[in-house]
Amino acid sequence: MIELNASVNSIRGIGEKKAQAFAKLGVFSLYDLLSYFPARYEDRTKFCPIAAAPIGEGVCVRALVADTPRLIRVRRGMELVKFRAVDESGSVDITYFNQNYVKDYLARGDSVCLYGKIELNGGRRSMTNPAYEKEDKPRGVTGCILPIYRMNAALNQRTIRDAVRLGLDACADQLPDFLPEALRERNRLCQARYAYENIHFPPDFEALAIARRRLVFEELFVLACALGTMRAERTRESGLRMEKRDLAAFYAALPFTPTGAQCRAIDEAAADMTGGYVMNRLVQGDVGSGKTLVAAALCWLCRENGCVSAFMAPTEILAEQHFATLSGMLAPFGMTVGKLTGSMSAKEKREAKAAIAAGGYDVVVGTHALFSEDVAYTRLGLIVTDEQHRFGVRQRSALIGKGEKPHVLVMSATPIPRTLALMIYGDLDVSIIDELPPGRQKVDTFAVDESYRARLNGFIRKLAGEGRQTFVVCPKVEDDEEAEDGGLKSAEEHAKELASVFPELRVACVHGRMKPKDKDAVMAAFVRGETDILVATIVIEVGVDVPNAALMIIENAERFGLSQLHQLRGRVGRGRHKSWCILVSDNTGEDVRARLSIMEKTNDGFAISEEDLRLRGPGDFFGSRQHGLPEMHVADLGADTQVLKTAQTEAKALLADDPQLARPEHAALRARIETLFRNNTDSFN
Ligand code: ADP
Ligand code: MG
Repeated sequence: MIELNASVNSIRGIGEKKAQAFAKLGVFSLYDLLSYFPARYEDRTKFCPIAAAPIGEGVCVRALVADTPRLIRVRRGMELVKFRAVDESGSVDITYFNQNYVKDYLARGDSVCLYGKIELNGGRRSMTNPAYEKEDKPRGVTGCILPIYRMNAALNQRTIRDAVRLGLDACADQLPDFLPEALRERNRLCQARYAYENIHFPPDFEALAIARRRLVFEELFVLACALGTMRAERTRESGLRMEKRDLAAFYAALPFTPTGAQCRAIDEAAADMTGGYVMNRLVQGDVGSGKTLVAAALCWLCRENGCVSAFMAPTEILAEQHFATLSGMLAPFGMTVGKLTGSMSAKEKREAKAAIAAGGYDVVVGTHALFSEDVAYTRLGLIVTDEQHRFGVRQRSALIGKGEKPHVLVMSATPIPRTLALMIYGDLDVSIIDELPPGRQKVDTFAVDESYRARLNGFIRKLAGEGRQTFVVCPKVEDDEEAEDGGLKSAEEHAKELASVFPELRVACVHGRMKPKDKDAVMAAFVRGETDILVATIVIEVGVDVPNAALMIIENAERFGLSQLHQLRGRVGRGRHKSWCILVSDNTGEDVRARLSIMEKTNDGFAISEEDLRLRGPGDFFGSRQHGLPEMHVADLGADTQVLKTAQTEAKALLADDPQLARPEHAALRARIETLFRNNTDSFN
């Protein structure tokens, strides 16, 4: 028997060199090896009659060695073994290159199982270097499901496979089962031993599915427990305790009734702020779901408690918009709203800073300037950041450092499937606004191709005639002769084109390569209605509000992800005007059409993000964005959502019952979580 934490080189056949090769794969101990799951499987379960085998595809055949294998010397250093194999349906010529030992191993009359590709050579079937096993010997590569591992140059499949086999046999019954037994039974999960055996060497696909389900559950459950304990620790951090207030007083002054989802988010955040510990909450809501109101309510609560709120926006324009909105919303309560942005004059900034230091504002709205070094706050009680992906964690903490553990509310309009949000924002509690204010009009969406161009231009002209504005989004900034991108629209070229098509309209262009100041100027002009058509790159994705814009055209729509398309579409339909979104793409690919048709069908950001995740998988879904989750070994966050939900529910129940996992029966689980933290210090921070 070998101890699970013993080095892999205690396995027969693994010496120092191979151990080093394993180390490169992150495999050090026997336990690591057993947890090194196959990347995929090859289905070699079905045997095929030789004559019926499809040409050029991997197949298993069961045959007799029909003549004595003979050795043929082609030239120096090149030897072949050849023989013929037959079954009832036909025959196949077998050739091995430089594998002389085949000649001694197989003899005429042997019954063999072969796996390989059959080719046709002048009408004769042939196979080169097929995997071979005698039918009466234990078999591992034919007639089975073959595990395929990720490997490196120093290791081959066979070495890994054999090592895992020996490892499984050598570890006997030591494999720890850190799922509590009752939980395991309740969820009909197999035992650890069965799972490890069958994830590597499944006799059939059913066994594989059973094994995989257990391991996926385990992985997600451990992760959920880990995040749960982390959250529990954080919430114990004491913070500014605010007094409760009846929010009805705030709601009464609004021009509309808040939606149920808005109230829920406000209640959840208010409970944090009045609970005696530091709030760290994410509010996720689709574009237009009314997140600003949530923030305003909390600013009000903060002021009721004699504290100041800071509201941070990612761009000047958004800061201006929030400043205007909040000023309006909070004026009825006699609250003062101040502003601090980079574009203010030195004198304005100086005055704003002095007012902030003197506690002259109840709410300060601004950009990054809010946390520059020379800004000092008195009684900073709440920090709100909008569109959180634009702010790094470090920037957030710089602002947090400005107060005595102020409460933090992060607002994001990037819908992430609910189940995933809980995982990804491990350090944040999450409120979800999954309801739009009543009477919101659907943005009618159509996917069209180039043949629609003339009508599209007619549509722009018609809307402009009614005083409406149009956004056009292109996938790149400028034309580049060299680029092999099949003629993607560039914002600059397209803007020129539109300017000549519409000499009577005002066309502007904005993109990420412009200086922030110039960019802001173009955007601001569009917001003021001084331009009719704004051609842009993805820079306009973030929540700028132009209620008068009624048409969003997205060129080369196939280049954008679903969530991105949805974000872009959210730029229109924000006012009282009926709005449209036109997705232009000549791409006829099936998956592209599927994606675009989802956009035509639904306006629900959460539904779209679920689809996006399903279609693209979590890796692409999050792109290079650091999503703060450790790498998954078996679980697929996109596909295993049902298991994910169950695992989360179970983790929650377990932690409610034993928050520190202090009970002896949870010791193995606690140890597993500690290992997870130790191995993933980066992603958890
Ligand atoms: P978000 O930031 O979530 O995209 P906003 O906070 O900008 O959305 O709100 C979008 C629009 O909806 C604003 O014009 C706002 O005044 C309005 N609004 C917010 N909540 C409600 C509500 N409960 N009923 C009606 N209109 C609302
Ligand atoms: Mg917003």
